[in-house]
Amino acid sequence: MLFTKVLRSGVLAGLRCQSTSAQASAKFAAATSKPGHGGFSFELTDQQKEFQELSRKFAREEIVPAAPGYDKSGEYPFPLIKRAWELGLINGHIPEDCGGMGLGIFDACIITEELAYGCTGVQTAIEANSLGQMPVIIAGNDAQQKKYLGRMTEEPLMCAYCVTEPGAGSDVAGIMTRAVRKGDDYVINGQKMWITNGGKANWYFLLARTEADPKCPASKAFTGFIVDADTPGLQPGRKELNMGQRCSDTRGITFEDVVVPKENVLIEEGAGFKIAMGAFDKTRPPVAAGATGLAQRALDEATKYALERKTFGSLIAEHQAVSFILAEMAMKVELARMAYQRSAWEVDMGHRNTYYASIAKAFAGDIANQCASDAVQIFGGNGFNSEYPVEKLMRDAKIYQIYEGTAQIQRLIISREHLGKYKQ
Ligand SMILES: Cc1cc2nc3c(=O)[nH]c(=O)nc-3n(C[C@H](O)[C@H](O)[C@H](O)COP(=O)(O)OP(=O)(O)OC[C@H]3O[C@@H](n4cnc5c(N)ncnc54)[C@H](O)[C@@H]3O)c2cc1C
Repeated sequence: MLFTKVLRSGVLAGLRCQSTSAQASAKFAAATSKPGHGGFSFELTDQQKEFQELSRKFAREEIVPAAPGYDKSGEYPFPLIKRAWELGLINGHIPEDCGGMGLGIFDACIITEELAYGCTGVQTAIEANSLGQMPVIIAGNDAQQKKYLGRMTEEPLMCAYCVTEPGAGSDVAGIMTRAVRKGDDYVINGQKMWITNGGKANWYFLLARTEADPKCPASKAFTGFIVDADTPGLQPGRKELNMGQRCSDTRGITFEDVVVPKENVLIEEGAGFKIAMGAFDKTRPPVAAGATGLAQRALDEATKYALERKTFGSLIAEHQAVSFILAEMAMKVELARMAYQRSAWEVDMGHRNTYYASIAKAFAGDIANQCASDAVQIFGGNGFNSEYPVEKLMRDAKIYQIYEGTAQIQRLIISREHLGKYKQ
């Protein structure tokens, strides 16, 4: 297949392949976006295997060696992001008529798991593009998509999803940023917080309150906007110094009399809450895939170490207590992978996947933390030291239980969906 060959030559020769011919990418997308369509199967398609191979090679040869340096400096990993863009490993969901590949969520997850294996700080910066783009993909009109998604296929630009505020994260309906209609424009005032790619984005998806009446239901009170980063009055704050994923750029953003034209409203005034929440069905599977990639890395590092380190005259892998920790980690990694693949498959098939997406996100987030902690345990004193790779994994893992809905919020969603089946 032409596109596959282009991809392969992209990795070998370092060629830019993001803007391959629409025909080839359509063929590719058609062949790959419906895994298991012919029946139940755990086998990836040949094209998916190629994507996996490409992203694995990139992660292991280019991300893994650079990751400790980025972790220490906190510098934004733009050279790696640019390289991922050249290889076609970022912005995969952008529709073909905007110059993208139109990949399904399953395919994106396969790539994400591999990139996360290399460094989840780098992967989160990349994934934040998908999160920022998703509201425009699911709710943008032709002109909005061509303008804002199209430009991301022409050069390696970043975008961001700008919803959380200092006073409201889990309780999205509690956000206070206000957008007031003035003629053909909206004037936006407010403060956002914890925005990934906050200082690097070319544009933002922004959720703001347009309805003054506090009794108005969330489904009508908020509006989704696309906001250019260079709009006067939009001011990113300092880069936050986080526990892990330290090269990812997280910032607060102030909006002071920011004027946005009505053409940048997604769907219509009042439709924003559903758009912002709807995006999660498509972005939680990749977040779960990222957590799985981190857990797999923890398992690999711990296994290699257990096969080298000796105590009491034996390799530590030969102590049953250690080999059983590895067995537990392996079980969790396999199940997390199946969970994200199921949730991605459901949404690619056009099924409502809220239940599966939350299960995958909650489970993979938890097991990433357990596996990283177990890897530190297997490394003993060395595990606690920054010269070895696993303490970074433990710091990096924590955010998977917090962003895109905390571990508790996922359980709220799962229990609501579960009980809903019994109440019908
Ligand atoms: C590094 C990083 C990157 C982020 N990137 C983005 C981004 O790009 N865009 C964006 O918009 N946001 C982003 N966020 C914000 C993130 O989504 C929120 O931090 C998260 O949703 C939790 O909100 P909060 O911090 O306000 O915690 P709170 O909502 O205040 O929650 C505090 C605690 O209470 C628990 N809790 C809250 N409500 C309930 C409940 N009803 N039942 C049970 N427990 C509950 C929570 O689980 C948590 O343990 C990011 C955050 C971080 C740290």
